[in-house]
Amino acid sequence: MTATTPAARQGATGHIQRSATPDDQPSASLDRPQSIAAPLMEIRDLVVSIGEHQVVAIRELDIPAGRRVALIGESGAGKTVAALSLLDLQPRVARVTGSVRLEGLELIGMPDRQLNRIRGSEVGVVLQDPASALNPVMKVGRQIDEALRMHHRTSRRERRERVLELMEQVQLPDPERLRRRFPHQLSGGQRQRVMIAIAIACRPRLLIADEPSSALDVNVQAEILDLLVRLSDEQGMSLLLISHNLGVVRSMCDDVAVLYGGQLMERGPSRVVVDQPRHRYTQALIKANPDQLADSPVERTLTHPLWPIPGETPSVGQFPSGCHFRDRCTHALDPCADELPITRTVETRTFSCWNPAPAAEPEANVEETAG
Ligand code: SF4
Repeated sequence: MTATTPAARQGATGHIQRSATPDDQPSASLDRPQSIAAPLMEIRDLVVSIGEHQVVAIRELDIPAGRRVALIGESGAGKTVAALSLLDLQPRVARVTGSVRLEGLELIGMPDRQLNRIRGSEVGVVLQDPASALNPVMKVGRQIDEALRMHHRTSRRERRERVLELMEQVQLPDPERLRRRFPHQLSGGQRQRVMIAIAIACRPRLLIADEPSSALDVNVQAEILDLLVRLSDEQGMSLLLISHNLGVVRSMCDDVAVLYGGQLMERGPSRVVVDQPRHRYTQALIKANPDQLADSPVERTLTHPLWPIPGETPSVGQFPSGCHFRDRCTHALDPCADELPITRTVETRTFSCWNPAPAAEPEANVEETAG
């Protein structure tokens, strides 16, 4: 396996095409080589528990170097908790076990001081709401400067130049003037650009973006997502995008992992999973949100205008035994109640379902693992 180099990714950038998309989707469509890259981050048997309840249980997920991976699911699926737990940023009441390796370095159980060096320098984080993430009483230029100062010993003049360079990189207008402003003096989109500048200040290998556009006006959402695509391409930076929007994920990310009730339902290349889902939850999610896939080939196969998923996502501790989706699944069989589904890997896609949607083509290279 070979890692995708920044140079190779710049080559891939040439394949990105512009097309008309809904307002909240990035205008860059994903059309680049789907080669297998070496994992930058390897997640194994990650369990996040609150009290006696498991809120996340992910057996295996890789984030390859230089690729964009989405974690998708409804509210309450455990996406944010799972992503934050990678850097030990989950709520204090939660306990994390398992293994998260960044280029072979184990992060779970790492002393805080060592982990602090990795947060920000190797892995950047962009949260959903920039208004609450930024310091309201500190000028934004100073906040970007703080991120640089924390990880690099450079002169004040060098840092000032880098702050202006970062503000230009995230397309903030008139950086010299804007750096002297407080967060409340900026628009929501500008605040999120400042957050992104802080997150990429030390050129991290991985950027975790938790619903980075959902708190913004619709017309700004696509701009922010486009910016993340461009930065990940230019810097060869991996991206873990938390999203609930199938259209965004399909057009923007190489790979997708579908989460429900903290369980990983299906994962694989985003166009394979979204265009031909095998897991019944992925299938239900797509049928319930046809508007998100307008202009994609999937939309033409959705003959029903809206097919809501029955019931509601249970709260923590209320999920049924066996498959967590069982009470809402219209394809459930007897074994779904008793045991975790067998995990099947077919080519590049993995799914855990006792009664999956039929394969579009005869299956080859099938591997099965007990649930
Ligand atoms: S394992 Fe059973 S309940 Fe779960 S999604 Fe598949 S068919 Fe439905």
